[in-house]
Amino acid sequence: MTGAVFSRAAGRDLPVVAGGRGTELFDTSGRRYLDAAGGAIVVGIGHGSAEVADAIATQAREVAYVHGSAFKSTALEGYAEMLGPLLPVDDPYIYPVSGGSEAVETALKLARAYHLARGEDRSVVIGRTGAYHGNTRGALSVSGRDGLRAPYLPWLGTAAHTTSPYEYRCPFPDSHPYGCGARHAQALEQEIVAQGPHNVAAFIAEPIAGAALGACVPPDDYWPAMTAVCRRYGVLVIADEVMTGFGRTGRWFGCDHWGVRPDLLVAAKGAASGYWPLGLAVTSGEVHDTVQRAGFVHGFTYSHHAVGAAAGLAVLKILSRDGLVDASARRGEQLGAELRAELADHPHVGDIRGRGLLWAVELVADRETKVPFARNERMAERIAAAAKDRGVLLYHSTGCANGSEGDLLVFGPPLVISPAEVTEVVTGTAAAIREVS
Ligand code: PLP
Repeated sequence: MTGAVFSRAAGRDLPVVAGGRGTELFDTSGRRYLDAAGGAIVVGIGHGSAEVADAIATQAREVAYVHGSAFKSTALEGYAEMLGPLLPVDDPYIYPVSGGSEAVETALKLARAYHLARGEDRSVVIGRTGAYHGNTRGALSVSGRDGLRAPYLPWLGTAAHTTSPYEYRCPFPDSHPYGCGARHAQALEQEIVAQGPHNVAAFIAEPIAGAALGACVPPDDYWPAMTAVCRRYGVLVIADEVMTGFGRTGRWFGCDHWGVRPDLLVAAKGAASGYWPLGLAVTSGEVHDTVQRAGFVHGFTYSHHAVGAAAGLAVLKILSRDGLVDASARRGEQLGAELRAELADHPHVGDIRGRGLLWAVELVADRETKVPFARNERMAERIAAAAKDRGVLLYHSTGCANGSEGDLLVFGPPLVISPAEVTEVVTGTAAAIREVS
């Protein structure tokens, strides 16, 4: 038997991609697609950048691989130097890996290693209901997507979860919209106390919950209240910026919207914009110094990869030079306004939310009761398929921040999207929604 690819779309035939430019992709039959999802909210600087390709080729020609414990590289030193001042972390140290899940695993180990180095045997990491932090065992254990976790529960150890800020179905309706942040912080504090504060190593959360939960922007009092609770109990804050980092939400990092200074931060996706599988675990100087003094035993064959650093550096230069973080904020306002103008009255559109170029439409069977569609209707998936038929690529998800299942259409186009293309995305999506629902 000949070899075959283990498909990620079992039962569906996929077009063969032939090329990409900016926000556009082309298949081998010559069809054009407008990529409103950047793949899985990955591609920030746009497809087909010769500049990034050249940086990768130059580094690979010079030297592609050395072990991270044997050599430093100019590319990686230069990358850390340029990225450092942009990170919302004090005296940041950057541990480059191959993707978001590896970055999360690294941060979880760093959090425990930090406490052990200080003589405290803390192991519990608190995540949030509905959250997604990756598919490896550690990342899945702190995630809150029951459907993804269920088959692997015997491997996931003790997981603790607290509430997610989900304005559309706020878990604290009596406080809504003022004071929810304090209630979420109270819930976190209760969980810390229930676990025993001396056991809790870290709290992990996305500053703005990404595609799995549908661009849930927390209330402004959320992050100050949550970080205050963590500080009170010596619990480290891990910001998962795998999706929100590198300009996606209209600031360099999602933390910047609220001045959050996490102890650990993880990033990936936009870091190398899909040109290289690059993830980053970032520590504060204090965490770095503490774990390094004690000795941090960890590593992957491909961590500290020079070609990855060259790709990341080239992407960073483009984001800065071309003002793409500001562009994300501006185009994001347009996208939000046009989605609302086009869809707010649709009987199956429950909520439209987001920031920068990360937006979501939550679909419901009934707007009054907010009852979701039945699972077997596969509503978001069918609408995304109808949009693809119209040449608009959307991301869809069945996540919900209260842990139940829902129907989400998620928008995360390359930050280079033009005003006319934003309108094309909205028109194509609206037509697909009307056709299917
Ligand atoms: N964290 C968040 C917030 C994500 O959205 C993802 C991926 O979608 C991950 C972690 C895992 O990243 P990766 O798929 O690169 O392992």
